[in-house]
Amino acid sequence: MKPGAERVETDVAIVGAGGGGAVLGLALAQKGVRALVLEQASGPPTGLRGEILQPNGQQVLDRLGLLDSLPSNATRSVRWFHFCRAGGAREEARGSERLCTVDYGMLPPPYNRAVVTLPNVAHHAILHALESRVPGGLRYGTTVTRLVRSGGRDQVVGLEAEYEGKPLTVSAKLVVGADGALSKVRQALAIPTKFHQYREGYLIAILDRPEGLEEAKYFVGRHAILGIFPAAGDKAYLFYMIPAGSMPQIKAAGIQVLRERWLKIDPSLEKTVQSLVDWNQTAYMPTGRVRTATWVADGAVLIGDAAHAMNPHASQGRMQAMVDAMALAELVPDCLQRGDWSASALAPFERRRRPQVEMLQRMADEQVLFWNTGNPVLALLRDRVFKTLDRNKRLGYRVLAVTAGLSAEAPFGMLDRLMAAGLLPDPRADCLPSEAVVPGR
Ligand SMILES: Cc1cc2nc3c(=O)[nH]c(=O)nc-3n(C[C@H](O)[C@H](O)[C@H](O)COP(=O)(O)OP(=O)(O)OC[C@H]3O[C@@H](n4cnc5c(N)ncnc54)[C@H](O)[C@@H]3O)c2cc1C
Repeated sequence: MKPGAERVETDVAIVGAGGGGAVLGLALAQKGVRALVLEQASGPPTGLRGEILQPNGQQVLDRLGLLDSLPSNATRSVRWFHFCRAGGAREEARGSERLCTVDYGMLPPPYNRAVVTLPNVAHHAILHALESRVPGGLRYGTTVTRLVRSGGRDQVVGLEAEYEGKPLTVSAKLVVGADGALSKVRQALAIPTKFHQYREGYLIAILDRPEGLEEAKYFVGRHAILGIFPAAGDKAYLFYMIPAGSMPQIKAAGIQVLRERWLKIDPSLEKTVQSLVDWNQTAYMPTGRVRTATWVADGAVLIGDAAHAMNPHASQGRMQAMVDAMALAELVPDCLQRGDWSASALAPFERRRRPQVEMLQRMADEQVLFWNTGNPVLALLRDRVFKTLDRNKRLGYRVLAVTAGLSAEAPFGMLDRLMAAGLLPDPRADCLPSEAVVPGR
């Protein structure tokens, strides 16, 4: 062994303490399974991310015992999301027209709302709970460099990493690649992968909340998207679609140009846009889709973005990583008991999770096609669908249940598509599933 080299042994080695890895570490700790989370960053994340906890993410936090302990001054419940038509970035403002309102209050309680938190609040709560429960169970500043396999076989039996410049070897029965869309674990496993980079990414900003804004607004126009979500205190998140990688040009054009673009879409944002004074209040969110031939190998598994990054239109990227973690945590004790960590022993995890993930990836891609479009015909169709969803309770509820992460079934079948586009009448437009609640405003 090299001087300073360290060797540790655990049952489950988790690469990455992001949305999925942190939840998995905590869920396994709560089940009494030995696990070690290795994170290359030097500490908990501090950057700006969009922080909408959909109902399925709230369920995960609830099961971990964390939902009710999130600080109330850092969270806000949002019930209504209004979709409005915007004039478009390259057109004169034509005012905005409400197309559709999505009411989370229709979902079965208690998860009948979206929860918007200040940056990293839920993630920090998970990391804190993990470190309190298992001191030393999370190691920052640790970059995983390669997988270790057993002599002559493909079975993964651990990994090698660098911790503060020194080599670290971890022996593990299972290695989990929770290391994001550009996963090194996936590469080391040589899993065939299709990576698609979308043409548009998002500029995110956290700014002063427009006066009286209690509900979320989402403007869609001709090649223009601007979302405004009220956050805790006097803050609001803005999500603004920009060409992928164009942040340097946006910055070069200056803050005033950006403010004017936003005001063109929503003139009521005057106070909010004036609160943008520094680029540090913004972040760039790249968008990519990952499709992998498999998520499991002998002694290794991928979760979250490493297995299936998706476009943020689904509003489910982080939620799906968290749900993966919970599903895998349920399977691990069984593998431990049987001493079987083969790909086929891990396959039930993939079989359980893949259908929902693939459905969400497809739905997000359709939304990219129609929502991001500059094509007037597609924009017209999109607006017709929004208007149908506003009137048609059945279809509106189905889209809501999918976005909330509570349904794994595609929101529309073939006939539903025709009805959504207004080409067929829907005799069941008022039929809601029994779990739906129909509250008044
Ligand atoms: C700016 C921004 C805003 C976003 N906003 C939203 C949003 O509003 N809603 C939403 O659902 N999703 C959002 N996402 C996407 C969401 O963050 C991801 O879908 C989610 O975090 C995926 O979780 P994960 O655990 O799979 O990967 P990640 O959260 O990316 O975590 C991967 C972790 O692995 C670590 N890592 C990587 N390689 C190694 C290595 N070799 N050794 C050790 N550690 C390693 C990384 O440092 C990272 O901490 C946003 C993403 C960005 C970038």
